[in-house]
Amino acid sequence: MILDALRPAARLETALGDPHVPGGPCAFAASAALDDAEAFPERAVAELDRLGVPSWYVPAVFGGRLRDQEQLFHLVRVMARRDLTVAVAHGKTYLGAVSAWVGAEPGQAEALGARVAAGDVFSWALTERDHGSDLLAGEVTATVLPGGGHRLDGEKWLINNATRGRWVCVLARTDPAGGPRGFTFLMVDKHALPDGSWRTLPKVHTHGIRGADISGIAFHGAETGPDARVGRQGAGLEIALKALQLTRTLCGALSAGAADHALRTTLDLLSRQHRFGRPVTELPLSRRDLADCYADLLLCEAVGVLTSRSAQTLTGELAVGSAVVKYLAPTLTDGLIGRLGRMLGVRALTGPVPGGAYGTCPDGRFQKLQRDHRIVGMFDGNTVVNLNLLVNHASTLVRGHRDGTVRWAGLDRAADLRAPLPPFDRTALAVLSRTGSSITQALPELARRVRADGPPDLADLAGRAADASGRVHARLAEHVPAPRLVPAEAFRAAEDYALCYAAATCLALYVNTRPGLGLSADLWQDAVWVKACLARVLARLGEDTGHTTDALYGPLLSRHRSGALLSLFDLPLPDRTAARYRDREADGARRPVAEAVR
Ligand SMILES: Cc1cc2nc3c(=O)[nH]c(=O)nc-3n(C[C@H](O)[C@H](O)[C@H](O)COP(=O)(O)OP(=O)(O)OC[C@H]3O[C@@H](n4cnc5c(N)ncnc54)[C@H](O)[C@@H]3O)c2cc1C
Repeated sequence: MILDALRPAARLETALGDPHVPGGPCAFAASAALDDAEAFPERAVAELDRLGVPSWYVPAVFGGRLRDQEQLFHLVRVMARRDLTVAVAHGKTYLGAVSAWVGAEPGQAEALGARVAAGDVFSWALTERDHGSDLLAGEVTATVLPGGGHRLDGEKWLINNATRGRWVCVLARTDPAGGPRGFTFLMVDKHALPDGSWRTLPKVHTHGIRGADISGIAFHGAETGPDARVGRQGAGLEIALKALQLTRTLCGALSAGAADHALRTTLDLLSRQHRFGRPVTELPLSRRDLADCYADLLLCEAVGVLTSRSAQTLTGELAVGSAVVKYLAPTLTDGLIGRLGRMLGVRALTGPVPGGAYGTCPDGRFQKLQRDHRIVGMFDGNTVVNLNLLVNHASTLVRGHRDGTVRWAGLDRAADLRAPLPPFDRTALAVLSRTGSSITQALPELARRVRADGPPDLADLAGRAADASGRVHARLAEHVPAPRLVPAEAFRAAEDYALCYAAATCLALYVNTRPGLGLSADLWQDAVWVKACLARVLARLGEDTGHTTDALYGPLLSRHRSGALLSLFDLPLPDRTAARYRDREADGARRPVAEAVR
């Protein structure tokens, strides 16, 4: 049984087939070869178009198929578990169009939705060469023309799909004085611009997602019609900050997919390597490392999924949740990949060796992933920017915690993974949350509920998390608002705040979601995954709980063996891992014992 939100991802998996098998449209071997050549993954992207994935980038209300943000989360994660370059290159169209879903008139959004669904490529041009994430410093100008159109001048740089894309959603300065009302979005159709008024910039060579089209675009008096403007004149920054809440949450899916790929590759390789008479994966240290990494993957997933769902039930608080996801998921996953890389040892570093001797990584798959994933923490507002956003919310978060402000109806509905969600209401998005985060603020009450009605060891972990959250909020309360030079201590407090949000997420899901169809008993019964994840969170908060993640090792191995997504949800994959295990075991049985364990 597959839960509804995962059905589009499940269909995509079936259509794409086993990525271990060379020759498929999105096979690991092809991805590695394209990466070596720094070549764009044309075939995989064309296949995703053919399978209708772009229509999932368009909200149903504007003519597409997307009803819930959670559907998109799962779709993007299964693309990312195959190849991050493909996920980033293809998924960029959602980012290029999302400003329209947030701010365009319905008619304009529908027209753009039709272009997205038809396979047009969109890019999102926020960044400029000298300004990084400081959007208020943007220098590309849009001067109003008689008749309501604009004349664009200047350069956007480090833009994904700027060269391949037909449409570029440009954030441009429309008031020379700048400021929060000084920027406007223009949805530019390159085909409609006068010749000679624009040019694309050369591809930038990157050490990750090497095949992607990371380039830029320069405008020289490029004139657009009045229909290019997205939202009101001067509303660009507000639309950008709201749209980023959706895209930052989606970045959690890139990390969850990458974490799946890293763990699966490690298990593929090390379950075949024998040391001391048993597979390396069965050594006590390996078991612990693998279980810890699985717990971190589940944390990324839990935080990403609950935050995606909360976009439709606690919409006005998404500024906080999206910043947490964008900081936490890439940070956990970078750490997880590093830890698995150490476990793989030379296998993570060496290129293919003839015959796969020494268990070397086929196609250099792991080192590609390691490079690719570093990008996730950088774009769409880097890690520091997202922590800064949490710091900016400090007084609201402290007040919400002190008053116990929780919008329970929205939280309970988001955290019941089987509950249908209300439609996404874009008018409820807010640049800053006025009520903090119901998710984190629910932590003390969630801990009380678990104490009343949960397993004692979970109650102990939940109580410790609630206490830790109190201490973190006390540190946030010490922060004196500073618009620019934010003290280092405030960033550390924001990091710990994100961990409290993660702890609350696990408990909210536990309290509201009952195990059963679509949510396997081995993880959900007796709160196995919740306890493991809380132990990881509390260890990071400096708490020695004595609780380990060891109980996750069995569920991890059984998912790997049966070829299932490494997830809180049941999702069978087309990977023929079970058959490979059987072949290997049969092969081992035929060989003399000494050789089989070598
Ligand atoms: C592969 C790739 C694809 C990209 N695609 C796109 C795209 O499609 N569209 C687009 O618009 N942009 C894109 N970008 C640009 C990217 O979004 C920006 O470069 C990024 O958001 C800004 O990060 P930065 O590292 O350049 O940091 P900057 O903002 O330039 O900051 C530099 C450093 O200053 C420090 N710093 C910054 N802010 C703070 C703070 N508040 N407090 C303390 N320290 C701080 C940090 O150490 C930071 O690393 C892409 C970039 C890459 C690498």
